[in-house]
Amino acid sequence: MEDHPRPQLHVPAPGLVSGPPADAIEVREPDTGLLVDRVPVLGEEETRELVGRARAAAGPWSDLPLRARAAHLKRLRRLVVERADEIAETVSRETGKPPIDVHVQEILVACDHLGWAARAAPRVLACRRRGPPLLGTHRRRVRWEPYGVAGIITPWNFPFVIPLSAAVSALAAGNAVVLKPSELTPGPARLLAELAARALPDPDLVLVATGDGRTGRALVDAPVDVLSFTGSVATGRKVMEGAARHLTPPILELGGKDAMIVLEDADLRPAARAAVWGAFFHAGQVCQSVERVFVHRSRHDEFVRLVLEEASRLRAGPRRSGAQIGALTRPGQLEVIEAHVRDARERGARVLLGGEPSDGEGRFYPPTVLSEVTPDMRIMREETFGPVLPVAAFDDEEEAVRLANGTPYGLDAYVWTEDRGRGRALARRLRAGSVMVNDCVTNYGLSDLPFGGVKESGMGRIHGQEGLRSFAYPVAEAEPRLRPPRQPWWFPPADRARWVKAWLHLRHGAGLADRVTGALAALRQD
Ligand code: NDP
Repeated sequence: MEDHPRPQLHVPAPGLVSGPPADAIEVREPDTGLLVDRVPVLGEEETRELVGRARAAAGPWSDLPLRARAAHLKRLRRLVVERADEIAETVSRETGKPPIDVHVQEILVACDHLGWAARAAPRVLACRRRGPPLLGTHRRRVRWEPYGVAGIITPWNFPFVIPLSAAVSALAAGNAVVLKPSELTPGPARLLAELAARALPDPDLVLVATGDGRTGRALVDAPVDVLSFTGSVATGRKVMEGAARHLTPPILELGGKDAMIVLEDADLRPAARAAVWGAFFHAGQVCQSVERVFVHRSRHDEFVRLVLEEASRLRAGPRRSGAQIGALTRPGQLEVIEAHVRDARERGARVLLGGEPSDGEGRFYPPTVLSEVTPDMRIMREETFGPVLPVAAFDDEEEAVRLANGTPYGLDAYVWTEDRGRGRALARRLRAGSVMVNDCVTNYGLSDLPFGGVKESGMGRIHGQEGLRSFAYPVAEAEPRLRPPRQPWWFPPADRARWVKAWLHLRHGAGLADRVTGALAALRQD
């Protein structure tokens, strides 16, 4: 395997501790195996040092007015736009996806998130009055305080937009950030930290802890003040255990096995195109991928024919070859996909397209379509994270709902129908953090919507006002309206009981008559 000269893609990454690393990781292009970079594996002490630096930067940052922080985020957005080609190349080299996909799916979406957070944060995180304006015993307000340092641990599949969108919410809320990117794709996070160092008042507001799972563990145990983890269910459990040790609030964005339901009245051509895109873009290495399709039996064969027509135009290959589907980023992913397809075949599925890894160098898997799949197959239960689209038939809505809800995951779910009302009603029966009618996956790019899962797909939300508030805690402020020398509830004498009961009836009686008669009756008691 030939080594490639180290690309001049980014200046020395802020956040990396100087001195010889105890251990180093080689970052390689997944489609060619060429060496891209060598990055250090940060240990416990070095990771704690980064968290300490971030904590020092967090104080002055959180003191800035919300609008001033928002102005810095807009500056960061300008830099992302200016450096878009460099970002695309960095992501493309380390993940294997075509640069155009990076522009569409990562950079555009990242800039939307930045713009939305900058606009919305001053409103969403403003101190607000609660309760009736004139009545009530106390004046009340709620303000949002940042936690301090947000630890953000991210996967390799969207190595720019995932760290950026979590970091942007954390920063907007007034935190500093320590990012731990996947060992397979550290470059985009380092580039993000470099841009943040230019856009924000302190270069320590976004720091990067490169390394592998040990560094992730060290970040959890540093400890940080709030944790955002995006990755697999298995690692998510470990992260949650670590968060429990320190009582750190966790936000967990985990895996998915998203279902698309195609009803009998759906417009099949766009539904088939959407299923093909949703299953095959980025080689299916997307948490929100369409991993299962359920089609009404009356339209099943027609739908499959359209899917095959669309999918047979696609090709997997190196990112500069014109192929629409890039390499599998993670070593070992090919084996998972092969095992799922093999299991499906052995249990009676039909392979209508693809089904065998491509010959030659590099980790590629062709677009694969399966039919006659059943819920007991691994391909219908476990996250495949590859370009495989299994299609099954259903007879009625009850069955479709049961099948769609029949996995431990609950990230996204999609419904196709010409009857929007029916689609919405059906979507409400699906247990998922996000649902779409007549579309798929793009909800991630709708910045004002919360994003996250239920069941084993995780907890907590990023994006939207819920995401901004995930990185802040509400502080309840209260002051008595009147300041008598003593309040009536401070050690009341025992003989006040009837007054208390009268007050209880007045406040909580079922209706006016009940309130008054209840209160008078209480006052008459001995
Ligand atoms: P992993 O869970 O393997 O890794 C995620 C991150 O956690 C990586 O940075 C990894 O480091 C780090 N890590 C590994 N071990 C530990 C540990 N013990 N403590 C703390 N951190 C650790 O996931 P992948 O990177 O393979 O990503 C794919 C998964 O992510 C899929 O399941 C996918 O569905 C999910 N995902 C979910 C999304 C969502 O929003 N719900 C979005 C995108 C992906 P390293 O890589 O260096 O080992």
